[in-house]
Amino acid sequence: KKTIHIIGGGMAGSEAAWQIASAGVPVILHEMRPVRGTEAHQTDGLAELVCSNSFRSDDATANAVGVLHQEMRLAGSLFMRAADANKVPAGSALAVDRDAFSAAVTKAIEAHPLIDITREEVDALPPAEWEGAIIATGPLTSPALADAIRAETGTDSLAFFDAIAPIIHYDSIDMSTAWFQSRYDKTGPGGSGKDYINCPMDETQYNAFIDALLAGDKTQFKEWEGTPYFDGCLPIEIMAERGRETLRHGPMKPMGLTNAHAPDVKPYAVVQLRQDNALGTLYNMVGFQTKLKYGAQKDIFQMIPGLENAEFARLGGLHRNTYIDSPVLLDGTLRMHSRPDIRFAGQITGCEGYVESAAIGLLAGRFAAAERLGLEIVRPPQTTAMGAILAHITGGHLTSNEEPGKRSFQPMNVNFGLFPPISVVKPEGVKRFRGKDKARAKKRQLGERALADCMQWLETGG
Ligand code: FAD
Repeated sequence: KKTIHIIGGGMAGSEAAWQIASAGVPVILHEMRPVRGTEAHQTDGLAELVCSNSFRSDDATANAVGVLHQEMRLAGSLFMRAADANKVPAGSALAVDRDAFSAAVTKAIEAHPLIDITREEVDALPPAEWEGAIIATGPLTSPALADAIRAETGTDSLAFFDAIAPIIHYDSIDMSTAWFQSRYDKTGPGGSGKDYINCPMDETQYNAFIDALLAGDKTQFKEWEGTPYFDGCLPIEIMAERGRETLRHGPMKPMGLTNAHAPDVKPYAVVQLRQDNALGTLYNMVGFQTKLKYGAQKDIFQMIPGLENAEFARLGGLHRNTYIDSPVLLDGTLRMHSRPDIRFAGQITGCEGYVESAAIGLLAGRFAAAERLGLEIVRPPQTTAMGAILAHITGGHLTSNEEPGKRSFQPMNVNFGLFPPISVVKPEGVKRFRGKDKARAKKRQLGERALADCMQWLETGG
């Protein structure tokens, strides 16, 4: 069988390679690191997590990304296998030891007899003689390839900003001020209800902190002026500019937390840290993406009670994030209209997040393998999480009087809003059925429908 070439060994490219090889089709995976780096990657491992180590909620009854996890497990995902094998405690979220996760993916790909890895930058569109390629080069696609994609598509690639949060050494955190607790003591599988480190602030400390954020030295990105931020990943200083209370209602909300050192004193705001590696030696600042200059970051974050002597393993930063106008440029199976021998996968298609990128890699891989084997390509139904995110990217969700390209295409995390509506069934024995109870039942039923439809899709040629 003829080889399929994949460019980029990140979340999407690694998963696509795994799926294709699992179907018995050979793969060459072209990854440019370590020959050439990106602004955010730090290792030469495949599937390196550039920022947070969380794959978000693992609850398939309450959260769309939890449903996506479960569907990917059903489809034999390497990403999920590596995640499940390298979990760190994070309440009901699925978080991983980033190095062990990347090492597990790298090892599995290297060991697969049908996959060859080539460490080189691909600086032009895949040549026609490859007869089948997947571009999965991510938000930090190298400039030469980005230019080639722009030239082929005839449009400017779209872009937005993405930011990274700092990581701190655990032994530099003052635990006589900070304490371990998950919000509302929530506990996930294997969790203890004490998975996060919390740093409390009173009103005076909070106000001084906001003043410092507003005054702090920020990196200027003149060439990217006018580029929008992805709303789920706003830098904290931008949130602070939006209003003095914004952070206290966002990542610094004090709700569901009781100061273990002073249970009677309600904190005015709380900074949370999440375990970053299996050893528990590193913690990242939850929701603390920033474009403050490095010096300013240290000074300002050391104002946080408990972090006065914090040592930073990595400081925050801001990066450009490139993606294409997929609803216009791609068909329903992620092929380029102008070059059907090329598929796109991962964040460059306009999905957002590690899990979504891997899921689109999984689909691109399955579609490419089916095509190579002369089988019919069956898309997952939109009632599944994978189908919902695919529909967002390829424009399948647009109503007939909307034209692809007529709206602005924005990157999107998977969410229940992308699923076709369901008429919620009242559970037996329940008398009052509205408000929160109904919303909870709706999510559970959307999740159940998704998993049932996913299993059927997999059994019938998906
Ligand atoms: P990547 O995982 O980036 O993989 C692309 C690969 O292609 C890389 O290994 C790269 O080296 C390689 N490559 C690039 N160009 C070439 C070329 N020309 N030739 C050969 N190889 C090439 N998502 C989250 O869920 N949580 C987060 O906290 C988060 N933080 C982010 C922070 C930043 C700064 C950025 C940029 C993105 C972040 N994302 C986050 C978004 C996104 O989910 C990740 O970027 C994710 O890794 C995307 O997966 P991917 O496979 O599309 O790309």
